[in-house]
Amino acid sequence: MRCAIISDIHGNHEALTTVLEDIRQKGIKDIFCLGDIVGYGADPSGCLAEICGLTDMITAGNHDHGAVGLLDLSSFNLNARKAAEWTGKKLNAREKDLLKKLPLFLNPFVQGEKFIMVHSTPNRPEAWQYILSLDEAEYQFEKFSERLCFVGHSHQPVFWECDPHGKCSIAGREYVHLEKDRRYIINVGSTGQPRDGDPRASYAVFDRERMEVTIRRVEYDIYSAQEKIIRAGLPARLAERLAIGI
Ligand code: ZN
Repeated sequence: MRCAIISDIHGNHEALTTVLEDIRQKGIKDIFCLGDIVGYGADPSGCLAEICGLTDMITAGNHDHGAVGLLDLSSFNLNARKAAEWTGKKLNAREKDLLKKLPLFLNPFVQGEKFIMVHSTPNRPEAWQYILSLDEAEYQFEKFSERLCFVGHSHQPVFWECDPHGKCSIAGREYVHLEKDRRYIINVGSTGQPRDGDPRASYAVFDRERMEVTIRRVEYDIYSAQEKIIRAGLPARLAERLAIGI
């Protein structure tokens, strides 16, 4: 059984629909979404409708909370704040309600094993911290007991691995075979605003039988997504960064 895990769509409908088509072509039916459906991009309603029509396995992201008043925007940089305010004005009451009700994490059974899915970190997800170093990964591994945790938030795909002695390393950034005696925190990257220097949309395919996770990168119509951002009056920087993937 394979499932797709996507994160950080950020109102980028062009990236989302291209990723969903890639998932469909692979014959994958089960989709999980790790939050930040909205914020930055110019099509929050389109993205919300699209993803909620396909799955209810969705966690909240900080930008989802920022757009609906659940998070103080002073923690956002100027462009993120402007985009959150713009998004808040665009969403209707029903859409806002949908975002407000998203859980902070999911703990689904996938073929008899429980996994964690969370936007930021397994420990205190509401603090919206990032896992960017081995020390931070090591700390997070101590805070959950499951073998596998999927995250987003940094917009950079990476596989953190923890050996039986609690020692952490990076097991890769594109593909990993999951060893039985190890635990993993897997960052699936961002569909709508990648920040690892590769502008292609990112998502993960998890093959539970083979115990493999593969990061898929998909080219999409960046130009149309940029045009929409400019037309909406959102900061130009939010359009520019899509072309360079930072
Ligand atoms: Zn994000």
